[in-house]
Amino acid sequence: MKVIIADSINEKGISDLKEVAEVTVATSITPEELVEVIKEYDAIVVRSRTKVTREVIEAGSKLKVIARAGVGVDNVDVQAATEKGIMVINAPESTSITVAEHSMGLMMSLARKISIADKSVKSGQWEKSKFMGIELNNKTLGIVGMGRIGSQVVIRAKAFNMEILVYDPYISKEAGAEMGVSVVDLETLLKESDVITIHVPLTPETRHLISTREMEIMKNTAFIINCARGGIVDEDALYYALKNDIIGGAALDVFESEPPQESPLLELDNLLATPHIGASTAEAQRDAALIVANEIITVFQGGSPRNVLNMPVMDSKNFKIMKPYLDLSEKMGSFMEQATSGNIKNMDVTYCGELSEMPQQDILTRTMLQGILNPILTEPVNLVNAPSIAQNRGIIVTEGKRCESEGYKCIIKLEIKTDKDEFSLDGTYVDEPKIIKINNYWVDVKPEGTMVIAKYQDLPGTIGAIGTKLGEHEINIATMQVGRKEVGGEAIMVLKVDQSVPQSVIDEVKKMDHVEDAVALEF
Ligand code: NAD
Repeated sequence: MKVIIADSINEKGISDLKEVAEVTVATSITPEELVEVIKEYDAIVVRSRTKVTREVIEAGSKLKVIARAGVGVDNVDVQAATEKGIMVINAPESTSITVAEHSMGLMMSLARKISIADKSVKSGQWEKSKFMGIELNNKTLGIVGMGRIGSQVVIRAKAFNMEILVYDPYISKEAGAEMGVSVVDLETLLKESDVITIHVPLTPETRHLISTREMEIMKNTAFIINCARGGIVDEDALYYALKNDIIGGAALDVFESEPPQESPLLELDNLLATPHIGASTAEAQRDAALIVANEIITVFQGGSPRNVLNMPVMDSKNFKIMKPYLDLSEKMGSFMEQATSGNIKNMDVTYCGELSEMPQQDILTRTMLQGILNPILTEPVNLVNAPSIAQNRGIIVTEGKRCESEGYKCIIKLEIKTDKDEFSLDGTYVDEPKIIKINNYWVDVKPEGTMVIAKYQDLPGTIGAIGTKLGEHEINIATMQVGRKEVGGEAIMVLKVDQSVPQSVIDEVKKMDHVEDAVALEF
């Protein structure tokens, strides 16, 4: 086996690989040279310098693994690799401890004003009384997002004897209790925490998650730390809050624009800034190299690596049959992620009709899990890791088969139970993916564009009132379907609309008479 190391990685990773493979270290190789030589290699290791383009992948006739010694894979054409059946692996856990330690460092620095005290001493002053700090002992730490990094912060904060509150709508109270933390809503966390540290991905949901309203709820002595992604904390609101003593201080490792250009935040003494170095330690780089070396060795020895971002699956005959249902499954997962609230406890999938005879339906279940989990996690959930991620999050997944398929060739039935509600979907594929039942009401909708689903009491005027409400906000209804089981009973309305629907409009719909619930979905 031959491995080319195209970017510099830790020596230990290289020596581990040398035990099982012929290794070429070519850390200044040009893109043209790489295309030329890649055909000789079974695996390539990169960091961020080398781009593994479609051209490189197509030239790599023996290539089995592309390994990124780090987290992001922006420099790898994952789609091209998947099409050629090449595994793309990375080392997502390599930076977790490093980032958690940086967050703790910023926390201590804020509590004891270390950074400004340092500047003061170096400028020739000795202002002991100016730098009165606080202890972290017995203080309340609010952690927003308890994934890989948030969990490492928990372990470290406990050693400081801090009480820990967590806001993560995808973590159950039980899972929190096992970690010795209290899972609370965001408002409680904001109100009660002395220090708040952010560890969520940047998504449409988390953009400006901490803005003016949130800072007003916080204690006026509270510190906020963002080592996750710029944009999660609203920088204009933060400037106002720091300038006007609405909160006590903040530390940012990440900015909305990097480097921050002429940001007024940088003039403030109660703002501590680092240049996106949360993951920059020798150990994180070493671990990334060791993890990917180990993964490559596993592949060469015929085992299953843990961090595969893509997974070439099935022979081509089965793939052709399953392909439409893979698309449908992904859409059904995404539908559920958007339509349900609370943390998911159970996911039951039933394959009906011809699908019940097919081998490897679990690929469809994994694809649904991808649709559910991908929007909420930083690292891509893939067909390999989806079940273990679900299990770690306390989601019990069950699969069943049924010959009967209600007149369709195949139906996939998906039922989700969360700690707050239950939701069911039936989907099929007839020329295109279709949802044919929502909560046991028959519908016929293609999951695409923007949809609004409303649950309401079937009383005269309700449908019209909802339409009028959307119209008031310039939202045009393209199609509408309603389903009910009995006159005057509970009913469901599915609207396809031409514009995105802001959450504020959905909130207005929810408050209308006879409306029980409403949600907007984007596909
Ligand atoms: P992760 O995917 O392991 O965990 C993210 C957690 O956030 C999950 O538990 C998820 O349930 C939760 N979450 C998702 N949406 C949420 C929401 N709306 N509200 C509350 N919780 C929500 O990710 P991770 O590896 O722990 O990374 C966390 C963050 O750190 C990411 O933004 C990542 O990009 C960033 N990061 C920064 C650096 C750096 O150099 N500063 C380095 C690595 C990672």
